[in-house]
Amino acid sequence: MRAMVLVSPKRPLRLAEVDDPQPRPGEVLLHVRACGVCRTDLHIADGELRAPRYPLIPGHQIVATRDDDGSRVGVPWLGWTCGRCRYCRTGRENLCERAEFTGLHRDGGFAELAVADERFCLPLPDGFDDVTVAPLLCAGLIGHRTLRMAGDPESVGIYGFGAAGHLVCQLAAHEGRRVFAFTRPGDTAGQRFARQLGAVWAGDSDEPPPEPLQAALIFAPAGELVPQALAAVEPGGVVVCGGIHMSDIPSFPYAALWEERVVRSVANLTRSDGHEFLRLAAAARLQTTVTPYALEQAGDALEDLRAGRFEGAAVLRIAA
Ligand SMILES: [Zn+2]
Ligand SMILES: [Zn+2]
Repeated sequence: MRAMVLVSPKRPLRLAEVDDPQPRPGEVLLHVRACGVCRTDLHIADGELRAPRYPLIPGHQIVATRDDDGSRVGVPWLGWTCGRCRYCRTGRENLCERAEFTGLHRDGGFAELAVADERFCLPLPDGFDDVTVAPLLCAGLIGHRTLRMAGDPESVGIYGFGAAGHLVCQLAAHEGRRVFAFTRPGDTAGQRFARQLGAVWAGDSDEPPPEPLQAALIFAPAGELVPQALAAVEPGGVVVCGGIHMSDIPSFPYAALWEERVVRSVANLTRSDGHEFLRLAAAARLQTTVTPYALEQAGDALEDLRAGRFEGAAVLRIAA
């Protein structure tokens, strides 16, 4: 099969002809139709997240048809859990001590074929084609979990208006929350995009919102946003960091945290997050904004993501 392979970190992805993957017991062979490109893939390509082995096939928003019954499934970041550790036994498989992640510990979907543990394949809602459904599988799912970790806020700020931000904005607005979108300073196109998707206000990340917020969600990998978001939330407000990697958080005065403000992160997802979010996405009729690329353009997609050259999410279209 053809695959885009990361031979070692900090090297460009390379198109290669590799052996077809062979499913083991409990796994299914998948014909990949599309695969989303996520900021985490950029962190993996840059070596900020280390894989246990290289060469590696990245990609963890896999839309595919099963070889055995032809049904359409999605494979997210969480690829396997042990089922036995204290996290797995207490409904927190996202923190499993032995978790294997798709496109990091297991080969992912930047390829024509993939294998996945059957128990971690998610049914995909109708009403989305292969390319537009792909960003739901990480950007949407992590965005959903990030919003849930903020409780039930009436007003919520979103820092970083990319793949996750543009989906969680619609979801939060659908739930009747007032969304305040923060983009890179001066990104007026991004701010217009946010207003189109239901934000009541959009502005630069270094400016204060017009009113104190009950929660803030950070999807951009910039640690300096943490004190900025803390300054934007009211007493008792929650700041949730949704990314897997972030630059260092600068020190800030204790007064910024005082009055029961909370800073927390979100790690990975559970399968129940996946089932719940995909039902919600269909009910809320989320519109995914997608920039399609061919399989062999995966490296270009990563560089465009790094430079912020598109709105919404990049997706590799692998089968016509
Ligand atoms: Zn476990
Ligand atoms: Zn991701």
